[in-house]
Amino acid sequence: MAVAVFRAQLQRGNTRLLRTRPRLIRQASTSQTGRDWTIHPATRDAARDQVAQLAASPRRPLTLADLLRHGRPPLSKDALLASANFTLSLLPARLASRIHALRNLPFIVVSNPNVSKIYHNYLHSLSTLLPFQKRQITTLEEENKFGEVLADLVQTHTNTIPVLARGFLECRKYVCPADVTRFLDTHLRARIGTRLIAEQHLALHCASQPVRDGPPCSSDSTAVPSKYIGVIDTAIQPARIIRLCEDFVGEICELKYGVRPRLVIGGEPDASFAHVPVHMEYIITELLKNAFRATIESGNEREPIEVTIAAAPDVPGKEPPVQGDTDIGFQLDANDDAYPREAMGASNPSLQSITIRIRDRGGGIPPEVLPHIWSYSFTTFSEMDLNSENGNLDALNTISGSGGHLSSIAGLGYGLPLSRAYAEYFGGSIAVQSLFGWGTDVYLTLKGVGKVD
Ligand code: ADP
Ligand code: MG
Repeated sequence: MAVAVFRAQLQRGNTRLLRTRPRLIRQASTSQTGRDWTIHPATRDAARDQVAQLAASPRRPLTLADLLRHGRPPLSKDALLASANFTLSLLPARLASRIHALRNLPFIVVSNPNVSKIYHNYLHSLSTLLPFQKRQITTLEEENKFGEVLADLVQTHTNTIPVLARGFLECRKYVCPADVTRFLDTHLRARIGTRLIAEQHLALHCASQPVRDGPPCSSDSTAVPSKYIGVIDTAIQPARIIRLCEDFVGEICELKYGVRPRLVIGGEPDASFAHVPVHMEYIITELLKNAFRATIESGNEREPIEVTIAAAPDVPGKEPPVQGDTDIGFQLDANDDAYPREAMGASNPSLQSITIRIRDRGGGIPPEVLPHIWSYSFTTFSEMDLNSENGNLDALNTISGSGGHLSSIAGLGYGLPLSRAYAEYFGGSIAVQSLFGWGTDVYLTLKGVGKVD
């Protein structure tokens, strides 16, 4: 009973209790997947002590080709173990780096219950990984346990964005907005990579169930279609994703405004490349929400939103420069050399970039608004009153999923900056061109991997 109460308080971020009742809190340190991941105090202390050392280890950024290196599932036993060890060689340093950054925030921010909750989630996840790091994963049984730990990690950090956003909203009086933007930008970009690495192995693990002979995964990913390699769709068609997102955003518009604008797709709707569908869905949903909202609120809902897809030719060879995850990436250590790309069974994919232009007739962006559109928490959506119980903070609760989909049309002010973080992650970009008094063009360029055998 006491554990349940303390767990609820923990979930609400009541960390004062953490200090007053350490024994009970330790017991309450369980996963959100329902399994008891009680961390031995010594393990947690060890994790705490190793943070600085792990966070300082040199790393290089993540690429899409790196995620394809273990080949198509079901993986052989050796490939599955290699993927697990590869994942294990990356995650602890990345988590430690985040813990380190959270520790360096001003005291008033770190002591905020929401920010503190995120800090403890990271420490918990690092503690669950460290016992595996002591030795390599050499058996399928260990790999199965590692899979459970990864599932716990992914689940535990699902709500990071709304919880952090809530924490920073609560302390915004005390911190400089530029510092908040800098911290959130680095943190959320790093989170994209960490989740991707964990989810990639988890998806390969689940799709390799016959090989590993372990318990089936609770997720749908056992039934992953063959064009997937882990979380990467090797033949994703942006036009299809745009239609899916249009449906979703159109429904929100009908609920809120009673109308939904039309969307027409031109250019090359058949273009496809290898990319991460959840990233693309997040970005396109956010961009369409902005375009739909502006179109309706300017009274121009009869004017269609024009989406044009253009595929640049494949460029053989070099990987795109990664801008999105410079502080946290692969470790440049012996582990990395142990995984030469050619030996991993992945093809030598060429690179392809697809640019999507979203053109709306929503009146454009006022010049006084334009300088702020890339700041986290900046919004012109007035319905949400930041001080009200039911306002913006409630909107935060509706975010879920790996990208953090917000099921209201606007109001958090995370749409553009987070979309840009996702786009830049693999070397893409987002550019906004406003024609004030007329409309807005948004150019989304995504760099993918071309042909994957
Ligand atoms: P939110 O949509 O939650 O306000 P965003 O980061 O998505 O946050 O956008 C920030 C602001 O940029 C919006 O509040 C809006 O004022 C402006 N904006 C973005 N896209 C458009 C657009 N297509 N037309 C007009 N204004 C836009
Ligand atoms: Mg938006």
